[in-house]
Amino acid sequence: MSRDEEYREGTRSVHLPRSPELASDPLVPPVVHSSTFAFETAQEYADVLGGRKPGFSYTRIDNPTAVTFANAVAALEGFGVAADVAGEAFGSGMAAISAVLLAFTGSGAHVVAPAACYGGTFGLLRNVLARFGVESTFVEGNDPAAYRAACRPNTRLIWGETIANPTLAVADLPALATVAHDAGALLAIDSTFASPAVCRPLEHGVDLVIHAATKYLGGHSDATGGAVVGRPDLVAQVRAVRVDTGGILAPDEAYLLHRGLATLPLRVARQCTTAQAFADALVRHPRVARVDYPGLSDHPDHALAKALFDSGRYGGCVTVTPNGDQATGMALCDGLRLARIAASLGGHHTIVSHAASTTHRQLDEAALAAAGIGAATVRFSMGLEDPADLIADAEQSLDAMP
Ligand code: PLP
Repeated sequence: MSRDEEYREGTRSVHLPRSPELASDPLVPPVVHSSTFAFETAQEYADVLGGRKPGFSYTRIDNPTAVTFANAVAALEGFGVAADVAGEAFGSGMAAISAVLLAFTGSGAHVVAPAACYGGTFGLLRNVLARFGVESTFVEGNDPAAYRAACRPNTRLIWGETIANPTLAVADLPALATVAHDAGALLAIDSTFASPAVCRPLEHGVDLVIHAATKYLGGHSDATGGAVVGRPDLVAQVRAVRVDTGGILAPDEAYLLHRGLATLPLRVARQCTTAQAFADALVRHPRVARVDYPGLSDHPDHALAKALFDSGRYGGCVTVTPNGDQATGMALCDGLRLARIAASLGGHHTIVSHAASTTHRQLDEAALAAAGIGAATVRFSMGLEDPADLIADAEQSLDAMP
Protein backbone atom coordinates (compact mmCIF):
# COMPACT_ATOMS: atom_id res chain seq x y z
CA MET A 1 0.00 0.00 0.00
CA SER A 2 1.32 3.41 -0.95
CA ARG A 3 1.77 6.10 1.67
CA ASP A 4 -1.23 8.02 0.25
CA GLU A 5 -3.55 5.07 0.83
CA GLU A 6 -2.09 4.33 4.25
CA TYR A 7 -2.82 7.74 5.85
CA ARG A 8 -5.97 9.79 6.18
CA GLU A 9 -6.56 13.19 4.57
CA GLY A 10 -5.35 15.45 7.43
CA THR A 11 -2.14 13.48 7.87
CA ARG A 12 -1.44 13.44 4.13
CA SER A 13 -1.89 17.23 3.98
CA VAL A 14 0.66 17.82 6.73
CA HIS A 15 3.25 15.26 5.63
CA LEU A 16 3.70 16.46 2.06
CA PRO A 17 6.82 15.66 0.00
CA ARG A 18 9.99 17.33 1.26
CA SER A 19 11.71 20.19 -0.57
CA PRO A 20 14.20 18.84 -3.12
CA GLU A 21 17.88 18.81 -2.22
CA LEU A 22 19.48 21.82 -3.92
CA ALA A 23 21.92 20.13 -6.30
CA SER A 24 22.81 23.48 -7.88
CA ASP A 25 23.66 26.71 -6.13
CA PRO A 26 20.82 29.28 -6.12
CA LEU A 27 22.19 32.66 -7.20
CA VAL A 28 20.30 34.47 -4.46
CA PRO A 29 19.84 33.01 -0.98
CA PRO A 30 16.68 30.99 -0.37
CA VAL A 31 14.36 32.39 2.31
CA VAL A 32 14.00 29.72 4.98
CA HIS A 33 10.80 30.54 6.88
CA SER A 34 10.80 27.43 9.00
CA SER A 35 10.93 28.27 12.70
CA THR A 36 12.12 24.75 13.48
CA PHE A 37 14.23 22.02 11.84
CA ALA A 38 13.66 18.27 11.95
CA PHE A 39 16.29 15.59 12.70
CA GLU A 40 16.59 11.91 11.88
CA THR A 41 17.53 11.02 15.44
CA ALA A 42 17.11 12.47 18.94
CA GLN A 43 20.90 12.35 19.31
CA GLU A 44 21.42 14.51 16.24
CA TYR A 45 18.99 17.12 17.65
CA ALA A 46 20.87 17.10 20.98
CA ASP A 47 24.22 17.44 19.20
CA VAL A 48 23.15 20.37 17.02
CA LEU A 49 21.53 22.17 19.96
CA GLY A 50 24.60 21.50 22.07
CA GLY A 51 26.92 22.91 19.39
CA ARG A 52 28.70 19.58 18.88
CA LYS A 53 27.45 19.29 15.31
CA PRO A 54 26.80 22.01 12.72
CA GLY A 55 23.19 22.59 11.76
CA PHE A 56 20.04 24.51 12.49
CA SER A 57 17.59 23.65 15.25
CA TYR A 58 15.33 26.61 15.94
CA THR A 59 15.12 29.94 14.15
CA ARG A 60 15.45 32.09 17.28
CA ILE A 61 18.83 30.44 17.74
CA ASP A 62 19.93 30.42 14.09
CA ASN A 63 18.14 30.83 10.80
CA PRO A 64 19.92 30.10 7.49
CA THR A 65 18.77 33.36 5.81
CA ALA A 66 19.75 35.44 8.84
CA VAL A 67 23.14 33.70 8.98
CA THR A 68 23.67 34.44 5.27
CA PHE A 69 23.05 38.14 5.93
CA ALA A 70 25.27 38.21 9.05
CA ASN A 71 28.13 36.53 7.18
CA ALA A 72 27.77 39.00 4.31
CA VAL A 73 28.06 42.02 6.63
CA ALA A 74 31.07 40.40 8.33
CA ALA A 75 32.71 39.95 4.90
CA LEU A 76 32.13 43.58 3.89
CA GLU A 77 33.26 45.02 7.24
CA GLY A 78 36.15 42.57 7.46
CA PHE A 79 37.61 43.46 4.06
CA GLY A 80 41.27 44.33 4.64
CA VAL A 81 41.30 42.85 8.15
CA ALA A 82 43.83 40.04 8.51
CA ALA A 83 42.09 38.30 11.43
CA ASP A 84 38.80 36.36 11.26
CA VAL A 85 35.64 38.45 11.49
CA ALA A 86 32.31 36.98 12.65
CA GLY A 87 28.82 38.44 12.44
CA GLU A 88 25.41 38.13 14.08
CA ALA A 89 22.09 39.39 12.70
CA PHE A 90 19.39 41.09 14.77
CA GLY A 91 15.78 42.13 14.40
CA SER A 92 16.64 45.84 14.62
CA GLY A 93 19.57 48.15 15.20
CA MET A 94 18.47 48.61 18.80
CA ALA A 95 18.35 44.83 19.32
CA ALA A 96 21.98 44.72 18.14
CA ILE A 97 22.99 47.63 20.38
CA SER A 98 21.22 46.13 23.43
CA ALA A 99 22.91 42.77 22.91
CA VAL A 100 26.38 44.37 22.82
CA LEU A 101 25.70 46.46 25.93
CA LEU A 102 24.23 43.48 27.80
CA ALA A 103 27.09 41.21 26.75
CA PHE A 104 29.90 43.40 28.05
CA THR A 105 28.40 45.25 31.02
CA GLY A 106 26.69 44.28 34.25
CA SER A 107 26.06 45.62 37.70
CA GLY A 108 29.02 47.79 38.69
CA ALA A 109 30.29 48.29 35.13
CA HIS A 110 30.87 51.68 33.56
CA VAL A 111 30.35 52.81 29.95
CA VAL A 112 31.74 55.92 28.26
CA ALA A 113 29.56 57.16 25.41
CA PRO A 114 29.22 60.35 23.37
CA ALA A 115 26.63 62.88 24.54
CA ALA A 116 25.59 63.07 20.87
CA CYS A 117 24.96 59.32 20.44
CA TYR A 118 21.73 58.03 18.85
CA GLY A 119 18.75 58.82 21.10
CA GLY A 120 17.78 55.17 21.47
CA THR A 121 21.27 54.24 22.68
CA PHE A 122 21.28 57.21 25.04
CA GLY A 123 17.88 56.20 26.44
CA LEU A 124 18.92 52.57 26.84
CA LEU A 125 22.04 53.54 28.80
CA ARG A 126 20.45 56.28 30.90
CA ASN A 127 16.98 54.84 31.54
CA VAL A 128 17.27 51.06 31.30
CA LEU A 129 20.82 49.88 32.02
CA ALA A 130 21.15 52.42 34.86
CA ARG A 131 18.38 50.46 36.67
CA PHE A 132 20.58 47.38 36.49
CA GLY A 133 23.60 49.09 38.01
CA VAL A 134 25.42 50.07 34.81
CA GLU A 135 26.81 53.59 35.04
CA SER A 136 27.43 55.76 32.00
CA THR A 137 29.43 58.91 31.41
CA PHE A 138 28.37 60.96 28.39
CA VAL A 139 31.26 62.84 26.86
CA GLU A 140 30.72 66.15 25.08
CA GLY A 141 32.51 66.56 21.77
CA ASN A 142 34.72 63.90 20.24
CA ASP A 143 38.16 64.62 21.69
CA PRO A 144 39.76 61.26 22.61
CA ALA A 145 41.41 62.98 25.62
CA ALA A 146 37.93 63.62 27.07
CA TYR A 147 37.15 59.91 26.66
CA ARG A 148 40.38 59.04 28.42
CA ALA A 149 39.53 61.39 31.28
CA ALA A 150 36.09 59.77 31.61
CA CYS A 151 37.48 56.23 32.00
CA ARG A 152 37.41 54.56 35.41
CA PRO A 153 38.88 51.29 36.66
CA ASN A 154 35.44 49.67 36.05
CA THR A 155 35.05 50.97 32.48
CA ARG A 156 34.16 47.96 30.33
CA LEU A 157 33.08 49.61 27.12
CA ILE A 158 33.66 52.76 25.14
CA TRP A 159 30.82 53.50 22.75
CA GLY A 160 31.09 55.66 19.66
CA GLU A 161 29.54 56.38 16.29
CA THR A 162 31.70 56.58 13.14
CA ILE A 163 29.60 59.54 12.03
CA ALA A 164 27.47 60.96 14.83
CA ASN A 165 23.76 61.57 14.44
CA PRO A 166 22.85 64.38 13.72
CA THR A 167 26.00 66.45 14.24
CA LEU A 168 27.97 64.31 11.74
CA ALA A 169 31.07 64.58 13.94
CA VAL A 170 33.61 61.90 12.99
CA ALA A 171 35.03 59.60 15.67
CA ASP A 172 38.82 59.32 15.86
CA LEU A 173 38.67 55.54 15.71
CA PRO A 174 42.40 54.68 16.14
CA ALA A 175 42.75 57.11 19.07
CA LEU A 176 39.58 55.82 20.76
CA ALA A 177 40.80 52.23 20.32
CA THR A 178 44.01 53.14 22.14
CA VAL A 179 42.05 54.85 24.94
CA ALA A 180 39.74 51.84 25.32
CA HIS A 181 42.52 49.26 25.28
CA ASP A 182 44.66 51.27 27.73
CA ALA A 183 41.66 51.25 30.06
CA GLY A 184 41.18 47.50 29.65
CA ALA A 185 37.88 48.17 27.86
CA LEU A 186 36.45 47.36 24.44
CA LEU A 187 35.65 49.89 21.73
CA ALA A 188 32.20 49.36 20.17
CA ILE A 189 31.27 51.58 17.22
CA ASP A 190 27.84 52.14 15.73
CA SER A 191 28.75 52.57 12.07
CA THR A 192 25.21 52.94 10.76
CA PHE A 193 25.79 56.41 9.27
CA ALA A 194 28.96 55.34 7.45
CA SER A 195 28.24 51.80 6.22
CA PRO A 196 31.18 49.71 4.95
CA ALA A 197 30.99 51.68 1.69
CA VAL A 198 32.44 54.71 3.52
CA CYS A 199 34.50 53.31 6.42
CA ARG A 200 35.35 49.93 7.90
CA PRO A 201 36.12 50.56 11.59
CA LEU A 202 37.67 47.12 12.23
CA GLU A 203 40.61 48.26 10.07
CA HIS A 204 41.22 51.05 12.58
CA GLY A 205 41.43 48.95 15.75
CA VAL A 206 37.74 48.89 16.71
CA ASP A 207 36.63 45.71 18.51
CA LEU A 208 32.95 45.55 17.54
CA VAL A 209 30.98 47.26 14.78
CA ILE A 210 27.22 47.65 15.06
CA HIS A 211 24.75 48.50 12.30
CA ALA A 212 21.14 49.51 12.12
CA ALA A 213 20.83 47.57 8.85
CA THR A 214 17.44 49.27 8.49
CA LYS A 215 19.35 52.23 7.01
CA TYR A 216 22.07 52.05 4.33
CA LEU A 217 22.61 48.27 4.30
CA GLY A 218 19.01 47.59 3.31
CA GLY A 219 18.77 50.92 1.54
CA HIS A 220 15.11 50.87 0.49
CA SER A 221 13.20 51.63 3.73
CA ASP A 222 11.43 48.29 3.54
CA ALA A 223 13.18 46.11 6.12
CA THR A 224 14.22 46.45 9.77
CA GLY A 225 17.32 44.75 11.11
CA GLY A 226 20.68 45.02 12.79
CA ALA A 227 24.11 43.44 12.75
CA VAL A 228 27.14 43.10 15.00
CA VAL A 229 30.51 42.11 13.58
CA GLY A 230 33.97 41.71 15.04
CA ARG A 231 36.39 39.26 16.61
CA PRO A 232 34.77 35.80 16.75
CA ASP A 233 35.25 35.36 20.53
CA LEU A 234 33.57 38.72 21.21
CA VAL A 235 30.76 38.11 18.73
CA ALA A 236 30.15 34.73 20.41
CA GLN A 237 29.37 36.58 23.65
CA VAL A 238 26.98 38.90 21.82
CA ARG A 239 25.37 35.89 20.17
CA ALA A 240 24.75 34.26 23.56
CA VAL A 241 22.79 37.35 24.64
CA ARG A 242 20.90 37.39 21.35
CA VAL A 243 19.83 33.80 21.80
CA ASP A 244 18.67 34.43 25.37
CA THR A 245 16.91 37.73 24.69
CA GLY A 246 15.38 36.68 21.36
CA GLY A 247 16.38 39.51 19.04
CA ILE A 248 16.96 37.39 15.89
CA LEU A 249 16.46 38.86 12.41
CA ALA A 250 13.36 37.49 10.62
CA PRO A 251 14.00 35.51 7.38
CA ASP A 252 12.08 37.83 5.02
CA GLU A 253 13.90 40.86 6.43
CA ALA A 254 17.22 39.03 6.14
CA TYR A 255 16.50 38.40 2.46
CA LEU A 256 15.68 42.07 1.74
CA LEU A 257 18.66 43.36 3.70
CA HIS A 258 20.98 40.90 1.96
CA ARG A 259 19.65 42.01 -1.43
CA GLY A 260 20.41 45.61 -0.47
CA LEU A 261 24.10 44.82 0.03
CA ALA A 262 24.66 44.16 -3.69
CA THR A 263 23.90 47.80 -4.53
CA LEU A 264 25.37 49.34 -1.36
CA PRO A 265 28.50 50.82 -3.01
CA LEU A 266 26.49 52.22 -5.95
CA ARG A 267 23.83 53.76 -3.74
CA VAL A 268 26.20 55.14 -1.13
CA ALA A 269 28.62 56.60 -3.68
CA ARG A 270 25.71 58.47 -5.27
CA GLN A 271 24.33 59.57 -1.87
CA CYS A 272 27.78 60.91 -0.88
CA THR A 273 28.12 62.88 -4.15
CA THR A 274 24.63 64.32 -3.67
CA ALA A 275 25.33 65.17 -0.02
CA GLN A 276 28.51 67.02 -0.98
CA ALA A 277 26.73 69.08 -3.65
CA PHE A 278 23.82 69.76 -1.27
CA ALA A 279 26.14 70.91 1.55
CA ASP A 280 28.20 73.07 -0.84
CA ALA A 281 25.01 74.79 -2.04
CA LEU A 282 23.32 75.27 1.33
CA VAL A 283 26.31 76.87 3.12
CA ARG A 284 25.77 79.82 0.75
CA HIS A 285 22.09 80.33 1.63
CA PRO A 286 21.45 83.49 3.70
CA ARG A 287 18.81 81.78 5.94
CA VAL A 288 21.23 79.04 6.97
CA ALA A 289 23.23 79.47 10.18
CA ARG A 290 25.23 76.29 9.88
CA VAL A 291 25.74 73.22 7.68
CA ASP A 292 27.40 70.18 9.19
CA TYR A 293 28.96 67.82 6.66
CA PRO A 294 32.38 66.14 7.05
CA GLY A 295 33.02 66.69 3.34
CA LEU A 296 33.12 70.47 3.81
CA SER A 297 36.75 71.59 4.01
CA ASP A 298 36.02 73.80 7.06
CA HIS A 299 34.29 71.00 8.99
CA PRO A 300 36.37 70.38 12.16
CA ASP A 301 36.65 66.67 11.35
CA HIS A 302 37.32 67.00 7.61
CA ALA A 303 40.98 65.90 7.83
CA LEU A 304 40.06 62.96 10.09
CA ALA A 305 37.29 61.90 7.71
CA LYS A 306 39.73 62.11 4.81
CA ALA A 307 42.14 59.83 6.66
CA LEU A 308 39.55 57.24 7.76
CA PHE A 309 36.99 57.20 4.94
CA ASP A 310 37.15 55.86 1.41
CA SER A 311 38.25 58.51 -1.04
CA GLY A 312 35.66 61.20 -1.75
CA ARG A 313 32.98 59.58 0.43
CA TYR A 314 31.87 61.53 3.50
CA GLY A 315 28.47 59.97 4.10
CA GLY A 316 25.00 60.55 2.74
CA CYS A 317 23.56 62.81 5.47
CA VAL A 318 23.77 66.57 5.77
CA THR A 319 22.64 68.53 8.83
CA VAL A 320 21.28 72.02 8.26
CA THR A 321 20.58 74.54 11.01
CA PRO A 322 18.60 77.53 9.78
CA ASN A 323 18.68 80.84 11.66
CA GLY A 324 15.84 80.65 14.17
CA ASP A 325 14.16 78.43 16.75
CA GLN A 326 12.36 75.09 16.82
CA ALA A 327 9.45 76.51 14.79
CA THR A 328 11.91 77.63 12.09
CA GLY A 329 13.41 74.13 11.80
CA MET A 330 9.95 72.60 11.58
CA ALA A 331 8.93 75.20 8.94
CA LEU A 332 11.95 74.22 6.84
CA CYS A 333 10.70 70.61 6.90
CA ASP A 334 7.08 71.59 6.20
CA GLY A 335 8.06 73.69 3.16
CA LEU A 336 9.83 70.85 1.34
CA ARG A 337 8.00 69.44 -1.68
CA LEU A 338 10.34 66.60 -2.63
CA ALA A 339 12.13 65.49 0.53
CA ARG A 340 9.75 63.60 2.84
CA ILE A 341 9.32 64.17 6.57
CA ALA A 342 9.93 60.71 8.00
CA ALA A 343 11.91 58.66 10.49
CA SER A 344 15.02 56.76 9.44
CA LEU A 345 17.73 57.39 6.86
CA GLY A 346 19.81 55.68 4.20
CA GLY A 347 16.96 54.81 1.82
CA HIS A 348 16.35 55.84 -1.78
CA HIS A 349 13.98 58.66 -0.78
CA THR A 350 15.43 61.86 0.66
CA ILE A 351 14.12 62.08 4.21
CA VAL A 352 14.24 64.91 6.74
CA SER A 353 13.74 65.03 10.46
CA HIS A 354 13.80 67.89 12.91
CA ALA A 355 16.27 66.51 15.48
CA ALA A 356 15.13 68.02 18.79
CA SER A 357 11.48 66.99 18.36
CA THR A 358 12.10 63.55 16.84
CA THR A 359 15.32 61.52 16.78
CA HIS A 360 16.74 63.26 19.84
CA ARG A 361 13.51 63.82 21.80
CA GLN A 362 14.94 61.72 24.67
CA LEU A 363 17.54 64.45 25.29
CA ASP A 364 16.51 67.34 27.53
CA GLU A 365 17.62 70.91 26.84
CA ALA A 366 20.96 70.49 28.63
CA ALA A 367 21.71 67.21 26.87
CA LEU A 368 20.82 68.72 23.47
CA ALA A 369 23.16 71.64 24.09
CA ALA A 370 25.91 69.25 25.25
CA ALA A 371 25.43 67.23 22.07
CA GLY A 372 25.71 70.35 19.90
CA ILE A 373 22.17 70.04 18.55
CA GLY A 374 20.38 73.33 17.86
CA ALA A 375 16.67 74.01 18.35
CA ALA A 376 16.25 74.47 14.57
CA THR A 377 18.56 71.64 13.40
CA VAL A 378 17.21 69.47 10.56
CA ARG A 379 18.90 66.31 9.27
CA PHE A 380 18.70 65.48 5.59
CA SER A 381 19.33 61.89 4.54
CA MET A 382 20.01 62.18 0.85
CA GLY A 383 18.21 59.70 -1.37
CA LEU A 384 18.78 58.77 -4.99
CA GLU A 385 16.89 61.69 -6.57
CA ASP A 386 18.79 64.13 -8.80
CA PRO A 387 20.97 66.45 -6.69
CA ALA A 388 19.83 69.63 -8.50
CA ASP A 389 16.17 68.87 -7.69
CA LEU A 390 16.98 68.32 -4.01
CA ILE A 391 18.98 71.54 -3.79
CA ALA A 392 16.19 73.53 -5.48
CA ASP A 393 13.66 71.97 -3.10
CA ALA A 394 15.63 72.98 0.02
CA GLU A 395 16.29 76.47 -1.36
CA GLN A 396 12.63 77.15 -2.11
CA SER A 397 11.67 76.04 1.40
CA LEU A 398 14.36 78.23 2.99
CA ASP A 399 13.29 81.19 0.81
CA ALA A 400 9.67 80.77 1.87
CA MET A 401 10.39 80.46 5.61
CA PRO A 402 8.56 83.08 7.71
N1 PLP B 1 21.92 53.62 15.44
C1 PLP B 1 21.70 54.74 14.72
C2 PLP B 1 22.85 55.64 14.45
C3 PLP B 1 20.42 55.05 14.25
O1 PLP B 1 20.22 56.17 13.55
C4 PLP B 1 19.35 54.17 14.56
C5 PLP B 1 17.97 54.45 14.11
O2 PLP B 1 17.68 55.51 13.58
C6 PLP B 1 19.61 53.03 15.31
C7 PLP B 1 20.91 52.79 15.73
C8 PLP B 1 18.54 52.08 15.68
O3 PLP B 1 18.16 51.28 14.61
P1 PLP B 1 16.75 50.54 14.53
O4 PLP B 1 15.71 51.61 14.35
O5 PLP B 1 16.84 49.59 13.40
O6 PLP B 1 16.53 49.86 15.85
